[in-house]
Amino acid sequence: MSILEIKDLVVSVEGKVILEGINLTVKGGETHAIMGPNGTGKSTLAQVIMGHPKYVIENGEIRLDGVLLNEKTVDERSRLGLFLGMQNPVEVPGVTNFDFVRAAVQAHLPQGQHLRLGKFILSLEDAAKELKMGSGLAHRHLNEGFSGGEKKRNEILQMKLLRPKIALLDEIDSGLDVDALRIVGENVTAMKSPELGMILITHYQRLLDTIVPDVVHIILQGRIVKTGGRELIAKIDAEGYDWLKAELGIETWEEPEKTPVSLGTCATKKPGPLRG
Ligand code: ADP
Ligand code: MG
Repeated sequence: MSILEIKDLVVSVEGKVILEGINLTVKGGETHAIMGPNGTGKSTLAQVIMGHPKYVIENGEIRLDGVLLNEKTVDERSRLGLFLGMQNPVEVPGVTNFDFVRAAVQAHLPQGQHLRLGKFILSLEDAAKELKMGSGLAHRHLNEGFSGGEKKRNEILQMKLLRPKIALLDEIDSGLDVDALRIVGENVTAMKSPELGMILITHYQRLLDTIVPDVVHIILQGRIVKTGGRELIAKIDAEGYDWLKAELGIETWEEPEKTPVSLGTCATKKPGPLRG
């Protein structure tokens, strides 16, 4: 059983602090939902866990099964068992979907071991069928000209073939119509097992009706300000986040002033009080 541990994580991008001290532990078999208004740092959290070089870790640790990830590259993290289904999957003209997924699966094999192509093709076809993706998608260029729904299904296709230990799904529901949402939900739910821990980032109850989380976190201004059970989802759906702002004494969070930090001097920076 795997464990992702995030401790006191402070992250900046282009000199602006976005995450102000995140603590989160996700174990195999658990599904965590992260909800929060736009611009509060949800994608930043997902990207920094996966190792996007644009984000600077000012303080804190990210560990997978005890291994410190802070300095590891994206491909190293992927081989260790992390997966990120992106909010906005990138289009890569010139690389077919088939070649991309094959290269990714090959890169996950132990050194010297070669992918058995026939077996790979069968599993790719099975996964595409389960996701009700058109068969032609494998031979089109990666995400190029894909509809929003096709891009998101394609992320789940990769997840099925890579079989991660910890998966982060960033707004996997955005751009999906009701039928596609059900298909994605069923496929992700079918992957639930003690070997897989998941973080679902979403705005909507709809996704969390299909992929039922065990724990719900709310993120505001770069911090997890509340953690609870599924009751939080219905409350947010009905009332938004105003009640929470009131509870926490936050009057506004729109474009809050972020204190500029100079990179390199903030390794020991401690998070300040929540801005109000
Ligand atoms: P969410 O996913 O919760 O909507 P994000 O993590 O995408 O939020 O963004 C959090 C904040 O970080 C936003 O205020 C956004 O404008 C800011 N941000 C993201 N990328 C950059 C960047 N490259 N430069 C400056 N600010 C950024
Ligand atoms: Mg986002």
